[in-house]
Amino acid sequence: MVLRRSTVTLRMLLVALLAGAWLVSPVHTQSPGPAAWLDAYRDVATSLIEASTSDDFAWNRLAELTDTYGHRLSGSANLEQAIAWAVEQMTSDGLEHVRAEPVMVPRWVRGDEHAEFVSPPRQALTILGLGGSVGTPPEGVEGDVVVVNSFAELRARAADVAGKIVLFNAPFTNYGDSVVYRTDGAYVASQHGAVAALVRSIGPPGLRTPHTGSVGYEPGAPPIPAAAVATEDADRIARLLARGAPVRVRLTMGARMEADTASANVVGEIRGRERPEEIVLLGGHLDSWDVGAGASDDAVGCIVTWEAARLMVSLGIRPRRTVRIVLWTNEENGLRGATEYAARHAAHAANHVLAIESDSGVFAPAGIGFSGGVAARSLVRDIGTLLAPLGIGEIGGGGGGADIAPIARAGGVPMLAYLGNPDRYFAIHHTPADTVDRITPDEVSKAAAALAVIAYVTAEMPERLPR
Ligand SMILES: [Zn+2]
Repeated sequence: MVLRRSTVTLRMLLVALLAGAWLVSPVHTQSPGPAAWLDAYRDVATSLIEASTSDDFAWNRLAELTDTYGHRLSGSANLEQAIAWAVEQMTSDGLEHVRAEPVMVPRWVRGDEHAEFVSPPRQALTILGLGGSVGTPPEGVEGDVVVVNSFAELRARAADVAGKIVLFNAPFTNYGDSVVYRTDGAYVASQHGAVAALVRSIGPPGLRTPHTGSVGYEPGAPPIPAAAVATEDADRIARLLARGAPVRVRLTMGARMEADTASANVVGEIRGRERPEEIVLLGGHLDSWDVGAGASDDAVGCIVTWEAARLMVSLGIRPRRTVRIVLWTNEENGLRGATEYAARHAAHAANHVLAIESDSGVFAPAGIGFSGGVAARSLVRDIGTLLAPLGIGEIGGGGGGADIAPIARAGGVPMLAYLGNPDRYFAIHHTPADTVDRITPDEVSKAAAALAVIAYVTAEMPERLPR
């Protein structure tokens, strides 16, 4: 029980950390003007930017990955085939020490799922089960729907909830604040005797598309089935109930957990020419939810960080320190790839100089966030001035990412995140609409160029980035 609870706490910490990327506003100071120490890096930075933006190589690779393998849920054959493809491609790019580091991952299976209104007159209700949800009995669960806008309202109406289906209908504000209804709603509703939970999709109103994502259970209340509904359907149910019309829904879900399966983090490097033991780490996660193509979340994060290294190899750049790319497995429903990496590399966690994650898309206008000490922040902000041709503003706060957090915590490592526009990102996040079509080649090239410049300078500068 204690172990379970600490796992949940870790998960919530990581969610909060991820959300922090969106909450922390950039720190603005007076522009210091060009820093002289950067002069040694300007020509290479220009070459990296020109090489990245001169063609659509990275976007084409993103399209190949998502067209060929589709979505890549942990435990799926698609993910394992995408991992094998990435190892092969990275090797042919000329990266070194390319390997798949084994990780056991959970396997959640969605199964068939559907829902319908029993009253008002029978009609379909589009749902998308939440990842990790338990299923229903084969005949489904049926109940009157109670709508609440907050946990406080649920507690105030606790006497109404037993035997019912609770719909959490809190409007989307930002991911960090809103996602708690998806992660914790089923558990809280179950504490009050609900038989199932529906959650208004965590995202802005879209095209009547439900958004999936993890649901968590905790000891003390039985796990109940949980599914997302589109914002339009959540509002419709709320309007019906406000008019006094009873709303009764039947929910049928075949979701289940199966035994853990073998997966891997894909790792490739450019070995440092003078200090190979010091590492600049970059990556995104190769797994995705089982809808859409996981293009923005997070195939593009894999492609742009990997592309940063490929650009260096193609220009014959071998920096002083090692540049290591990691395409993480199982970010979405377990963080086992991140946990396993931190455990496997614990002895040299402190040799990581900087940990970079791209897991917020690359939609314009994009920015960059950094989390680290004052001295490091000042240097990173200087480096950011090299990105002016890419239209990226001053580097602000909010660096971090779920996959880099464990190794960064273990080694006291500063973190940096590439942050795509959150409005566009969360409009399609965890939906069938997360496809490559929505991302432009220009957005991909610019992200790769920015990450290549940052990785190059931090791997090349004479003294390692301070903590
Ligand atoms: Zn992600």
